[in-house]
Amino acid sequence: MNKNLKNFTFIALAAIMIASCSKTKETPVNPDPQTQKSDKVIAYIESLGFPASAIVDNGDHYVVEEDIIFSKNMVIPAGQPKTEQFYTGSLVNATNKRNIRVKVDPSMTSMNAEVTSAVNQWNGIAASTVRFSIVTTGTYDILIKDENLGNGVCGQGTFPSGGAAGNLIKINKAYIAANSFAQRQRTITHELGHNISLRHTNWSSIGEGTATPVPGVGGTDAASLMNGGQCNSGATVLSAKDIQATVALYP
Ligand SMILES: [Zn+2]
Repeated sequence: MNKNLKNFTFIALAAIMIASCSKTKETPVNPDPQTQKSDKVIAYIESLGFPASAIVDNGDHYVVEEDIIFSKNMVIPAGQPKTEQFYTGSLVNATNKRNIRVKVDPSMTSMNAEVTSAVNQWNGIAASTVRFSIVTTGTYDILIKDENLGNGVCGQGTFPSGGAAGNLIKINKAYIAANSFAQRQRTITHELGHNISLRHTNWSSIGEGTATPVPGVGGTDAASLMNGGQCNSGATVLSAKDIQATVALYP
């Protein structure tokens, strides 16, 4: 056998061995852990009263009612969510609520004034213990960043989990750029409300199945900044009931 033929034989044998190896490694496909995890997230979303039809799969996260994000990797809050102003049943814990650090991504610094105004609205509720601070470096709890969310959606927020505030807010910056300052800061104030557990006050009229009332704060509220589906048309300051609900959840 000349050297070339020897090499060829070796390579051919090796190829057969590799082929047979990979064949024996064909085992039944296990359920993908990521899929199982996202199934649990769907079950959690449905347990909050959102119908399956309202849940949109968006890659690494789900979106509900256009502006609420559920990461497929989220920590599912323990226990059953208690099912007017409305909330998720999962709150920012007693330690975290006193200083929720908001980091403005470089993509959003052109709206620093709007973010500041939004933070001031929540911090202005004297009887509540929720306080936001804006940080520029180091650890943060919520990142606010720009993302193209298409037409009709001003922004998206995230509910709390594991005692932490929802960790992400996306703002459709180019889309809201032509809105008034008051409406731009409304979008951010509204999403911050989701990140501390508030739901859409008008949940019923926009098709949710059930929602958990904030104790002692029921009914509809046309003046609520937490009404959904009101991009560039909703209330720009927290209503009396928005404030009551925040105090009830975070006394
Ligand atoms: Zn919303």
